[in-house]
Parts: sequence; C-alpha cells; structure tokens
Amino acid sequence: MKYWKKLSQDKLIKKIDKALKSTVDFQENCYLGYPVSNLDENVFNTKGSFLKESPLLKSFIANPNNIGCHTVGKSESAFKGSQELEKEVLQVLAVDIFKAKKNEYDGYIATGGTEANIQALWIYRNLYKNEFGAKNEEMVILSSEDTHYSVHKGSNLLSVDTVSIPVNFDTREIISEELDATVAKLIKEGKKYFMAISNMATTMFGSVDDPNVYADVFLKYKVEFKIHIDGAFGGFIYPISNLQSPINFTNPHISSITIDAHKMLQAPYGTGVFLCRKNLIQNVLTKEAQYVDGMDLTLVGSRSGANAIAVWMILFSYGFYGWYEKINTLLLRTNWLCKQLDALNITYYHDPYVNIVTIRSHHITDKVAHKFGLVPDTHDGDCKWYKVIIMDHVEVDDLQKFITAVKKTNK
Ligand SMILES: *Cc1c(COP(=O)(O)O)cnc(C)c1O
Repeated sequence: MKYWKKLSQDKLIKKIDKALKSTVDFQENCYLGYPVSNLDENVFNTKGSFLKESPLLKSFIANPNNIGCHTVGKSESAFKGSQELEKEVLQVLAVDIFKAKKNEYDGYIATGGTEANIQALWIYRNLYKNEFGAKNEEMVILSSEDTHYSVHKGSNLLSVDTVSIPVNFDTREIISEELDATVAKLIKEGKKYFMAISNMATTMFGSVDDPNVYADVFLKYKVEFKIHIDGAFGGFIYPISNLQSPINFTNPHISSITIDAHKMLQAPYGTGVFLCRKNLIQNVLTKEAQYVDGMDLTLVGSRSGANAIAVWMILFSYGFYGWYEKINTLLLRTNWLCKQLDALNITYYHDPYVNIVTIRSHHITDKVAHKFGLVPDTHDGDCKWYKVIIMDHVEVDDLQKFITAVKKTNK
C-alpha cells in the first residue's frame, strides 16, 4: 500500500485543522459572491472546547462545499482543504485498492452508490453518442438479475434499455449461455453499444460477478462495450479479504467502479465513491455550469466537504492493516455462523470473502426473521431467501441467540 497509512490521532487533527484553515472563513473574510456560509450558529452549538477533539464536528460547522470534480482541471479555490483530502481518499481507493496507475483515474465522492452507478451509465451513454453518433435505441445496459435497482433508475432516467441476465439459483453465478444468447438476440434487434454492470457483492447475496464473463461474450460478438463494477457494498471488503482479486483496473475491460463509504466503512450518509479511468468523465461535462470555477463533471451539484473529511479520517485512522484486521474479524464471525448452519443442515449462500450469509427461507419462521431483523429477497410474500449481514455491531453473541432461535423453531 503506497498511500494507505495509519496516522496518529494528533496528526489527523492537525491535518484536518490545516485543511479547514484553507477553507474560506466566513467570519473573518468579506466573502460576498457565494451562496455559502458556515452552519447557522443561532441554531447549532458551534462553539465550545468540545470541538477541539472533534475534527469532524468542526468540519461540519465550517461547511465546505466540494462541488465539482477535483481530479481534473481547476476547482473552487475557497474549499481547497477538503478537496485535497478528498483527493487523498480517491488515491487510496484507486491506486492502493483498485490498482490504477498514479494520476490515471478520475472520480469524486458522490451522494451514494445510486449516484455513482448512474454517473457511470451517463458517461457511457454520452461517450457512445459523442464518439459513434449512437442513438439511445442502439444502446443497452446488461446486468445480472441480482443487480441493485439503482441500475433500473439509471436506465429510466437515461432512456437506455436494460436487460437482466439470469443467475444459477444456488451459486448466483451469471449463466454465461444465457448471456451469450441474450447478446446475440439484442444484436439482431439492432443493439450495438453495450454497458455491463458487474457486481462486487450483490445487495442480497454478496455474490461477486466475474466481469470477464461479460467481456468474453462482447469480444466474441465484436460489439462496443464498457464494464462498470458495482462495489457499493463489497468495495471496502472484497479486495481486502481477497488480496489476489483481479477485479480492478489491471483488467483493461473495467472502466469504472462504485464504492460506498457509508456501508462497510460506517461513514456518514452521502459518501458513495465514483472512480473511472482518465478521459471518460469529460463526456458528462455540463458546459452551462459557468458559475462553478472549474469543470462540473458530476451528477450532484453542491456536496459536503465534511463528508470527504469523514471518509479521509476513517481511512487514515485505521490504515490498511487496521482495516484488514477489522474485515477479518467480521469474516471470522461470518464463518462461525456458516459452521453453525452447516451443523443444522441449513442451506445458504455465502461468498467466502464477503460478510453476508443468505439463508433459504424455509429454514426460518416469520417470527424469527422478524425478531432478528432479517431481510427477505422480496417483500411481496413469495420469499425464498433471508440475509444476515455481519456488520460491525453483529457479534458472535448475537449470532448465537439467532442460532438458538432457529434451532428451536426448526424442530
Ligand atoms: C446499496 C447498494 C447500492 C446503492 O447505494 P446507495 O448508497 O444506497 O445509493 C448500489 N449497489 C449495491 C450493490 C448496493 O448494495
């Protein structure tokens, strides 16, 4: 890990103070032209010694606006500090975790995985228009049936069709023959430009798609394609639990990645990360965004600089090894649960590198599911699976209670 280090509490606070100093101080400055200010001090408690030890609260009070994309072109000079920390976050994610080359990526901290996925689709739709004069009807989005619904939102917003590829019921793997047949059929129907969303841990199963399954079929049929990795859930766990994972920018077919910090990283909401290779994000330049200094290349407009600082704090409080230990603790608990389920002959799906266990529903009574807050694959009655996610607060003690309840009701 070149950039992902652990910093002492003292260093963290000093760096954040420095970043906030370079954020314009509305109290000290005569800053007339911008619709920005610090948090309302008539409403919020913005002063007091407790702030000394709370760099994040200080950041929220200073209220920097990280509007725009800071990996390319110019940026608003009033919020340099939080922009720099955002760039450090992107560097850790792009280079250390997802193996991009230095300065060969763009990205930003978006509002969430939904926005980051839509940002990718938006870029590819415009790229096909800009480079090939493609029409919307000639494009199509492909993804597995386990894919997050944000992809359907994107399809609807961008007026590009989407087609779901079936997966094997037990392994949750994309059925490559079905994918092949679907692509052949779509080409016959006039589709020429493909966008695939390949999952790094699906929301319901934690299953990880092989992006090369898509690439192989697209190459076979010689169609234009782009592959986006949806690591909204898995991005902060899978590449760390599986250090040999090839799902990163070393694969030339992968163009962009979504990684949510507000799921596994326990950052405040509003911290989804979008990453892509260089020279792609310009396809969504909004030329009319003239009041923003620099280029507006993001779907969201104003966004929280304090959120960027929060993600930065988490990454550099742990460092790579600290995070590695935390992930492995979660996986240890996950494996404990799997062992108990095995002993009870209960069928479930589990990717060995992911902290999700999805259990066949006939083993679980409604009462147990409700009591332990399990999430069903569908809320419309005909549920086949329930999932357990081993998040930070889910300890072996909790899992033990769950197993005891399952044992009782399974007899
Ligand atoms: C949660 C999730 C999303 C959407 O992320 P939000 O941050 O809720 O917008 C997208 N994809 C996957 C796989 C997810 O788990």
